[in-house]
Amino acid sequence: MPAEYSSKTQSETAAQEILRCDPVDIDTLVGAGLPFEYRSGVRYFDLNDLYNLGMYSGRSNTQPELAFRMLFRFASRPVERLLSEQTWDFRVLLECPECDGSAPWRFEAPDIDRFGGRLADVTEPRPSARTAEYTATVTTTGARSPLVAPALRQLTQDYLEAGYRWQMIPPAMQADYELVHRLGATSCIAASLFLAERFRAAGYRAEAKRGWFCGVLGGALDLPHACVEVEDEDGVYKTVDIAKAQLAARLSQDTRDFQELCIGSVYNKAIPSTAPGDAPLAHHDCGSALPVHVRADIQVKR
Ligand SMILES: [Zn+2]
Repeated sequence: MPAEYSSKTQSETAAQEILRCDPVDIDTLVGAGLPFEYRSGVRYFDLNDLYNLGMYSGRSNTQPELAFRMLFRFASRPVERLLSEQTWDFRVLLECPECDGSAPWRFEAPDIDRFGGRLADVTEPRPSARTAEYTATVTTTGARSPLVAPALRQLTQDYLEAGYRWQMIPPAMQADYELVHRLGATSCIAASLFLAERFRAAGYRAEAKRGWFCGVLGGALDLPHACVEVEDEDGVYKTVDIAKAQLAARLSQDTRDFQELCIGSVYNKAIPSTAPGDAPLAHHDCGSALPVHVRADIQVKR
């Protein structure tokens, strides 16, 4: 992480657990340039740095490798299960870290109707200080609607073949999608902003939208989600989830059907919101300058 987006919150002990390594390995990584900060004699590291190191370490037992493999197990199963209706208990906790007092909240809610889903039992966050909650029952569904315009398919293919490396990147940095791609990296929001720009340059109506990716281990992995919504030449609005296609390809070879589904079709594990790709999901009107933390817990409704 570039210094301005880095947040050294993970102690040396936490780093050893995430990377399943011993103190000597940490010394080796620091010697090779892993950024850290000394606080009370202990080295602290950035969580995204550790995640990205683990993910590409090839050790196969680091926390990120295990988490992503579990999270993407669905991607190698038959994709028909991703096209059926699915109902979710959707709960989002909003937290204003340095709150200046009671005020209304603005939350970019799920926006699912136009992709065949629906919202019910909505509880909006009421004016309060520090924390608030949004809950709803969200029904998603899927539909096969691959991109048809050759120009859109070509731009998507070019992007997939450009060799950007998928990484965990904080949303604030992802909004600077040119920086992310200059570093040879990609991630859901940055990729969507980049591709939406290319689609518009080719004359199509396209916008990157943020949302949620369901089934993310009960919040253990805060995986920011976004995709491109584009009006195809058949007049249908399609969603392109390019970074998920890339990530799935990276994790396993037998995810081809899922990768294809990401290029235009709608699937039941993604919930779009009303937020543009480079905008925050929530805001508290208390006057604090620090961004609101948004933590989603999305569980299959039983
Ligand atoms: Zn506040």
